[in-house]
Order: sequence, then structure tokens, then C-alpha cells
Amino acid sequence: MLLLSKVVSIYLVKRGMTLLKQISFFIGLLLFVGMAVACSTPPAVQPTLDSPETIPTLAPTAATVATAEPEPTEPTATAIPEPTADPELETIVIPIAIYILDDADGELSSGRTVADIEQIYERVNEIWSQANIELEVQTIQRATVPQDLLLRLNNRDFFSFFNAVNSGDIDLPSFAPIVGFYTQQLGGPNGINPSNSNAFFVMDTPSVFDERVTSHEIGHILGLHHVLDDAGRLLYSGTNGMALSDEEIVVARYSAEGLLNRVR
Ligand SMILES: [Zn+2]
Repeated sequence: MLLLSKVVSIYLVKRGMTLLKQISFFIGLLLFVGMAVACSTPPAVQPTLDSPETIPTLAPTAATVATAEPEPTEPTATAIPEPTADPELETIVIPIAIYILDDADGELSSGRTVADIEQIYERVNEIWSQANIELEVQTIQRATVPQDLLLRLNNRDFFSFFNAVNSGDIDLPSFAPIVGFYTQQLGGPNGINPSNSNAFFVMDTPSVFDERVTSHEIGHILGLHHVLDDAGRLLYSGTNGMALSDEEIVVARYSAEGLLNRVR
């Protein structure tokens, strides 16, 4: 470039141009070249949605990368997945009160024993360890309930049951943030979490594992909805799937904190 300028300069001097004229000639030349380059530059490319400048940071942070595990490709229906939550995450302990429902003459009494329930919760805690959530069984007691109220549960009439609890017709000595009821029959489903309640019911002979039914209902109380496309997941209805997704772990932990702080 310098050499070129020198050659042009010598040529211009030979043509009899003064230094001042040479300088203005070069400025003019530079301006011309600059404009030509500007015009030949293709129009600026519009940022696409993939452009990092246009999307807020949705990329996983170091913390979420550490906890993320690939979804199992072929979920084993009966396997309890390895814990996926970050081991550094604080364990959230949720006290739970459990009642085994009986009627006065025993006809509709649950066949479960306190020992059965204790076993169920050992496995429930294995399932929920995926989210570093621990269900702390505060009490397991039998409660005698008027037979007509037990029969009403078969027709999804939980209102009458809760009314009787609130009025003291059903004597439940203690409560906890989550209350589980184990009853002989539920008129079809394995378990139910009546909407907007922190209680759930499980029947005596569910079609899937007991710990799965209980863990699934607890999932509903912790704000999780049904999953429709993956039978390996805990929130899929009617299978032995037990896996929680990373998103479900976040939601469940958030809901659990709310439950414990009585903000929901
Ligand atoms: Zn469900």
C-alpha cells in the first residue's frame, strides 16, 4: 500500500501537482474507496432467534449442569432412579401424619397394619430422595370412621369426610403438613389427592406398588400434574414409573417449602 502511494505520488509529482493538491487527492481517493467498500458490503444480517445477543440467558448454569442427568431411554418401570438432585441441596423434611381408616364393626376396615405403612414409607423416601425431599412420618394411627362416610369415599365424596374431620365427628388427634389416609376401598382409583387439599387417600389393593401410589399422590400435593407421554415417570397415571424430571424436582421443592412455611 505504501509502495503504491509512493508510486502514485511520484506519478502525480511528475504531472506537476503540489504537495497540498496531492494530499487532497489522496483524501478524495480514500473517501471514494471507503464509500465503494460500504456500498459493496452486504446488508447487516438480521439477528436470528439463535443469536446469543437476542435471547436472555436460558443456557444451563454450572449448577443445573451438575444436577442434570439424561432421561432413561428405556425406563424400567419398577426401578427407583438414582438421586438426581444435587447432593449439596438441602434436604427438605416434610412431616406427614398417617391414619389407617376403620369402621366400627370392621366390615370396611383397612387391612393394612402400622408395620405395612412403615415399610411403604421406607420406599417412598427412596423415591423422593431424587428430589432430596424426605417424608418424616410423625404418626401412624388407626381412626374409626362412620361407615357411611367410608362408603361415600367410593363415590369421591371427600367433602363429607373432611367436614366430619373438621367438626370432630372423626377424631384425628394430630395433623401435619401432609395427611395420608389408608382405606379399604376408593371406588376404582388406587389413590386420590382431593383437589386443593394436602391430604390423600390410598386403597388397600392398588394395581401398582404401594410406595408408588403414595409417592404419586404426594407428588400431586407438591404441585405436580400428570405426565402423559412417559410411563417411566412418577406422575404418569397407573404405572410403576418412579422417575422425577429436573423440572418436577424444582417445582416439588418449591411447593414443599411453601407447604412448610404455610404459604399454601
Ligand atoms: Zn394422579
